[in-house]
Amino acid sequence: MITGKNYIGNRLSGEGDKTHHTVNPKLNIENPTEFVEATPEELEEAVSLSEKAFQTYKKISGGKRAVFLNTIADEIDALGNELIQMYCAESGLPEGRAAGERGRTVFQLRAFAKMVRKDDWRQNVIDVGQPDRNPSPKPDLRKTSIPLGPVVVFAASNFPLAFSTAGGDTASALAAGCPVIIKSHAMHSGTGELVASAIIKAVKKTGMPNGVFSNITGRGRTVGQALVKHPKIKAVGFTGSIAGGRALFDLAAQRNEPIPVFTEMGSINPVVITSNALDSRAEEIATQYAGSITLGTGQFCTKPGLILTVESEWTQVFIKDLAKKTISIEAQCMLHPNIKDGYVENGNLVSQQKGVTVMGKIDTLLGENYAASQVNAVSGSDFISNPKMHSEVFGPFSLVVICKDEKELISAINHLEGQLTGTIMAEESDKETLGEVVDALQSRVGRIIFNGVPTGVEVSGAMTHGGPYPASSDSRFTSVGLEAIKRWVRPFTYQGWPKEMLPDYLQD
Ligand code: NAP
Repeated sequence: MITGKNYIGNRLSGEGDKTHHTVNPKLNIENPTEFVEATPEELEEAVSLSEKAFQTYKKISGGKRAVFLNTIADEIDALGNELIQMYCAESGLPEGRAAGERGRTVFQLRAFAKMVRKDDWRQNVIDVGQPDRNPSPKPDLRKTSIPLGPVVVFAASNFPLAFSTAGGDTASALAAGCPVIIKSHAMHSGTGELVASAIIKAVKKTGMPNGVFSNITGRGRTVGQALVKHPKIKAVGFTGSIAGGRALFDLAAQRNEPIPVFTEMGSINPVVITSNALDSRAEEIATQYAGSITLGTGQFCTKPGLILTVESEWTQVFIKDLAKKTISIEAQCMLHPNIKDGYVENGNLVSQQKGVTVMGKIDTLLGENYAASQVNAVSGSDFISNPKMHSEVFGPFSLVVICKDEKELISAINHLEGQLTGTIMAEESDKETLGEVVDALQSRVGRIIFNGVPTGVEVSGAMTHGGPYPASSDSRFTSVGLEAIKRWVRPFTYQGWPKEMLPDYLQD
């Protein structure tokens, strides 16, 4: 049952007087529950509990942490249809997507559980001492990874489950040994509270310390900023807008003790289609990309927002076909009225720039918060000279850039900011000549795809979901996949330490 309250550790609490409701975007009405923003006192209690819990939780074995993570997964599954219905009512997304995202969420939790059962993830280095080495003895050095401390995770609007309350940031931080305080997303506070209740049940069932998890609601930035500024918080995870991520990053840098902030922000995910690829399969590529642009109503950070190609006899045929196919896919509801407003505003901004032609745009919508999918075209020179076209339009929107030659295409890539992904659609016969394009993309992106689409991010140890700024604030890390755990630990070395005082995982 939803209460609208915060979880301050294991305790439900709603002492404040600032409230908000979530919105059902399909019906364009507020959902019934009133959510109460946490007060400064409640925040203080949550942070203090989490610091206290850290002293115990950091020493709990990987095996016990694994049981905790698996129990969270079980409890999320046990929420059953109530969770699915809440997710749909707060996001406008269909039941199939809700069930798929829940599957991904529990899979992530179980994957981290499996990972921390063994200690390999710590990447220990044992350099055995040589007391009789000449001319000076060599010390015994044992390097491991230890958790940073309490972490604040900002839930993402576009993944109410997989990048939210028990999403990848939370799963990886808990796996690493860090307590988590969630800043719940105000657009899906009900989904967040249900998942938080599952985590709290797991905390109690597995005997984890009170404060290892808290769920804080609120909207209007006060709560999020207070958490990031709090001296007991030691790291932050965020998925959302560039403006929001950057503001939190700057806030953390201004603290007396600056802390790491791992933000995953905007991306337009450039796709290069060679002339040979268009020559041999323009229609197939148009079908594939119409699906990728509109998937999830374009509300994925990996949506292909930019398609680059060198002008050939097939270019116009392809663009017209892509536009036709994109707008023939039924328009869907967006996550929230604010996101819809942002889509309209940013889409208009790009399509009104000099040289941009709207090649296709849906003109009839089923409701207020539905998105009109849109495909546009522009020349390489107009694109390069106008950075207003280089920013994300969050929704089913894509811009095709027609370059006069490969040099211009590479220049267009070089003018882009950092991106999560880059894609090359090419033929066997192109392989010899792709070198410069690959080099240009590699300098801009965290993952490069060959003959595929960027949407669909596999949870794997080999995944990189991050990239040069502003795709993420620290391109050395991924926010998806098992390597995400590395964000929440720091290297630590024991020198000359008595064997019996070393942790089990650093014994010979
Ligand atoms: P957002 O505005 O960045 O907000 C995300 C979270 O960060 C919210 O909890 C918000 O708290 C908090 N926040 C934002 N700015 C803050 C600040 N200055 N100080 C403290 N907290 C702050 O993202 P959103 O609400 O999810 O969506 C807005 C737009 O972001 C979308 O339209 C889209 O353009 C973009 N977006 C991109 C991606 C992507 O993956 N590329 C994903 C999601 C959203 P409050 O609720 O308290 O303000």
